[in-house]
Amino acid sequence: MDVCEEIGKVRQLRSRQPGVSWGLVPTMGFLHEGHLSLVRLAHQQNDRVAATIFVNPAQFNDPKDLTAYPRDLERDLEMLERAGVDLVWTPTAATVYPAGYQTYVEVENISRRLEGASRPGHLKGVATVVTKLFNVLQPDRAYFGQKDAQQALVIGRLAADLNFDIEIVVGPTVREADGLAMSSRNANLSAAARPHAACLYKALTAARDAIVQGEGDAERVRARMSAVVAQTPGVTLDYASVADPQSLEEQTRITGRCLLSMAVYLDGVRLIDNLPVACE
Ligand code: AMP
Repeated sequence: MDVCEEIGKVRQLRSRQPGVSWGLVPTMGFLHEGHLSLVRLAHQQNDRVAATIFVNPAQFNDPKDLTAYPRDLERDLEMLERAGVDLVWTPTAATVYPAGYQTYVEVENISRRLEGASRPGHLKGVATVVTKLFNVLQPDRAYFGQKDAQQALVIGRLAADLNFDIEIVVGPTVREADGLAMSSRNANLSAAARPHAACLYKALTAARDAIVQGEGDAERVRARMSAVVAQTPGVTLDYASVADPQSLEEQTRITGRCLLSMAVYLDGVRLIDNLPVACE
């Protein structure tokens, strides 16, 4: 496995074998089974797999959140090596955003809702760094998790709008036994708070079950999600959403497909999760 920091070296390694397909798995490190599931998917569909580890300052609207983000490069590299990754790019912030940097990518409408509304500038930071990763690594396919549903939509839109010749593949959310979606941020939950984090998935599945059983009023579904959170000690709701799965516009009546999504704070940690629902 090649590990490098410098852009020139990455480009050189990437272009070594023409005609060989590459899958890219971008990450912020502190890896878990969710990341590794994307690496496995990438291996199934490509000759070579590249991963990136970069805690992207541009997507953190809160400097304290950036500082608290968990990191363990040595462990991450061991995990990627064992998973058979061919190339890892671990750029520094100064490499990605050198002095004088002033170019940003913004996907307009779908970035304004949900995470975009709660974390101003977050999705602009994501779109910008992903554009740069695409330009440097030039993968044939790039892999993102359903866990960050809005991010995956934003990147799909970005790739289409900017004519990147890259297939965007979205892998399913990998969960802990109690339903909590795996996330690097879970490491920052105290042992006392950790069991309460299962309330997101409980709320989402309760909402899904209500819809499947015929509930068509989106506001009542939002209230159901909020109620599960309200019953859980220490958890504060940021949003509970029932939205169109493409435009992310909030729905009034649920007809056909919708995306249930939530964000909460627990123990000072922001947790998000979602569940796509189809009721035909
Ligand atoms: P992150 O390191 O949190 O930026 O995540 C890197 C990639 O892994 C993103 O595309 C995430 O959506 C994806 N990911 C994170 N957690 C999970 C999970 N539990 N299941 C599937 N994919 C995930």
